Amino acid sequence: MFPTLALLIGSFAVILIAARLLTTPAAPAVRNVTCPRCQITQIALRKPANARQWLWGGYTCPGCGLEMDRWGKPLKS
Ligand SMILES: [Zn+2]
Repeated sequence: MFPTLALLIGSFAVILIAARLLTTPAAPAVRNVTCPRCQITQIALRKPANARQWLWGGYTCPGCGLEMDRWGKPLKS
């Protein structure tokens, strides 16, 4: 493998981790997010459903399946 490729992958991983640290709310359990469609309170400590949720935070409503960002705003995907 070319060393430059390894370097690229390495720096990409660092950027991902940095973005994750910067966007993680300081106290995620305190925030109460309710689904704008069916008003179900979203579970604060949840498993991210996909890479975007893992990176930026967010919820998938257990009631209606609506995807939200970590502020509870609905997402179009
Ligand atoms: Zn819902």
